[in-house]
Amino acid sequence: MTVPTPSEQKEAEKWMLAAAEVAKDALCLRAKCGTVIVSDGEIIGSGYNAPPLDQEENRTCLEEVSTAKPKYDKTCCLHAEWRAILDALKRNPDKIVGAKLYFTRVDENGEIIKSGRPFCTVCSRLALDTGIAEFLLWHDEGICAYPTAEYNKLSYHYRED
Ligand SMILES: [Zn+2]
Ligand SMILES: [Zn+2]
Repeated sequence: MTVPTPSEQKEAEKWMLAAAEVAKDALCLRAKCGTVIVSDGEIIGSGYNAPPLDQEENRTCLEEVSTAKPKYDKTCCLHAEWRAILDALKRNPDKIVGAKLYFTRVDENGEIIKSGRPFCTVCSRLALDTGIAEFLLWHDEGICAYPTAEYNKLSYHYRED
């Protein structure tokens, strides 16, 4: 994991704010998340978390879920990262390899909530498999860039404490 230089930090902040804008449209009742995927200074894919097809009849946010299932899926809807990756694959399939993924959560007022450590192994695997180079999160200490393979490993070793 690396902390970008101050000028990179400014650039990264710009994309995090773009991800926060996308997150405002999230339809999940548990968390509002947004993702933008950036390649060569432009957004090639974006997504927010929501029920499949954005349709109310597909909503599971407030349903009782089986306690036998692992709890990795904290937002219950399609994750913002999946949506952004699918969007990039549809619109810019030739640009996803080597791209950077910016993820953030926002509160009800659209303000960025700083991220904890990587934990979602579904997103980490998918990002790695599609060739995304870096996964960026905004931690308390600043925006941090994780090479996707490292992000995947850290997600698998996540421990709640
Ligand atoms: Zn939901
Ligand atoms: Zn995820």
